[in-house]
Amino acid sequence: MNQQIRHIMIVGGGTSGWLVAAYLKRNLPPQVKLTLIESTKIGPIGVGEGTQPFTMQFLREAGITPDMWMKDADATYKLGVEFVGWHNKTYFVDNDTYETFVIGPNTTTMPYWCDKGSKEFFDWLPAYRLAKANLSPKMSPELDHTPGLVSPSWDAVHFNAFKIGDTIRQMLKDKIDYYDTEIVEVDKNDDGVERLRDVNGKEYSADLYIDCSGFKSMLLEQALGEPFVDCGDTLLCNRAVAMPTQYTNKETEMFPYTRATTMKYGWRWTIPIGERVGNGYVYSDAFISPEQAELELRQALGDFTTPANHLSMKIGYHKEIAKQNVLAVGLSAGFVEPLEATGITFTTKAVHFLMESLVKSNGVWDQRSRSLVNSRFETMFSEIVDFIFLHYKLSNRSDTDFWLAYRDMPMPEAVKRRLEVFDNDLPKTMFMENQFQMFHSGQWFEMLLGSEYFKDRFTVLDPKYEKYAEMYCDYQKYKTSKVMEIFPNHSAYITGLYDK
Ligand SMILES: Cc1cc2nc3c(=O)[nH]c(=O)nc-3n(C[C@H](O)[C@H](O)[C@H](O)COP(=O)(O)OP(=O)(O)OC[C@H]3O[C@@H](n4cnc5c(N)ncnc54)[C@H](O)[C@@H]3O)c2cc1C
Repeated sequence: MNQQIRHIMIVGGGTSGWLVAAYLKRNLPPQVKLTLIESTKIGPIGVGEGTQPFTMQFLREAGITPDMWMKDADATYKLGVEFVGWHNKTYFVDNDTYETFVIGPNTTTMPYWCDKGSKEFFDWLPAYRLAKANLSPKMSPELDHTPGLVSPSWDAVHFNAFKIGDTIRQMLKDKIDYYDTEIVEVDKNDDGVERLRDVNGKEYSADLYIDCSGFKSMLLEQALGEPFVDCGDTLLCNRAVAMPTQYTNKETEMFPYTRATTMKYGWRWTIPIGERVGNGYVYSDAFISPEQAELELRQALGDFTTPANHLSMKIGYHKEIAKQNVLAVGLSAGFVEPLEATGITFTTKAVHFLMESLVKSNGVWDQRSRSLVNSRFETMFSEIVDFIFLHYKLSNRSDTDFWLAYRDMPMPEAVKRRLEVFDNDLPKTMFMENQFQMFHSGQWFEMLLGSEYFKDRFTVLDPKYEKYAEMYCDYQKYKTSKVMEIFPNHSAYITGLYDK
């Protein structure tokens, strides 16, 4: 395996498999052969409709611009996630614009907002104001709600989980080696996987195998025996029940954000996409049965007829997602529950790590390449686990055993260390390289402020700083008000985009 990679084989054609294929096709030298094998009989998981901003950017890097896929995938815009019921007040974690917080070298508005309080902050937060007014984050593909951008904004979107894969499949199927068949056997040798065999006895082999087979992790876990690290001790939710509802009034219901509302034993998502609204209850089966969860969701939605889709979730990851000649990407690598819609971003990040390692090793998949991918992935994964855990841990809901279990759970040492960053040097967190991988420290701040973490913090603000921060925030407020005067309703914008 100390030769340059000449042939990469992707196993799986869910969202991960096709995103990986699109990116590699565009960014690897043309002499590297690409094969994708999927079983359309097995099919993709069919959930995963909210994204982080990286997905849009990733698709651009794969040569797929929004006009090429948004309509076909029923996509809508997402300005962030609104958290309802987690605390007395609703809070919002936005897609992060640097200008929300940064006012100078090593200086942010965070101490100012701690002093003012969470209600004042979320009433002011530009993205949240736009979101609550149901306004589109864009006036046109070029004109964004954040004036003055030099390069395209890192928009986040919602989309139809089935259609996104189909859309990319149509674009790519004839440009790579593509097989619709089921792999039933994996032969191994000293390098890892030697060859795959399908139901008809046909054999397939390559230099590097990308395992996008979903939760079963067919190559990494099943064939190479890489152990699964279970994170169920801190993230209790392990099942979901999903059910779409139809729009009755798109103008008000197609809001440009995800809503995460607490339930008795977990939370439910509301994700408005082009043709319908996606809903799902994420819960722990240690506290409630699937039937009870379905009923609680139906009662919340007022829908007693639409068929429900029950899913189990494997919460955790593999320490070595890059092992011998296999790299696991997507659900086969690891998954945390969907509270922050990070699943698809794992895919995009893993591909970036792969590319980074191949560039550094001149196209050779060696131990150094694997170590780089593994350490980057583990750092990112542990940050996300901590981030999601804190939403639950800091929630003040305590009416059921589920919420009490979180209240009584000790704070893990790793989480305490992460919080120390905010305790010790709040104004500088935005400038701390390598502390935050998936979430910007601004997003951490929004989650912590919304969860009243800073409530009892006593800070004496320097009057000059306070004046300056106030001036800056007033200026942002004014700018947002002006944007809101001319930006279109989200559903009107999406309809215009689809009609083009
Ligand atoms: C309840 C829930 C909600 C989620 N919400 C979000 C969200 O809001 N945002 C987000 O980013 N992520 C979310 N996710 C995660 C998201 O669904 C996945 O990250 C995404 O769909 C990618 O899945 P995948 O392609 O890795 O696996 P899958 O979709 O499971 O695809 C597996 C592929 O492997 C193929 N395959 C399997 N076995 C074989 C075989 N033997 N031979 C050939 N092919 C085979 C299948 O045909 C399929 O094509 C959610 C997940 C769950 C469970």
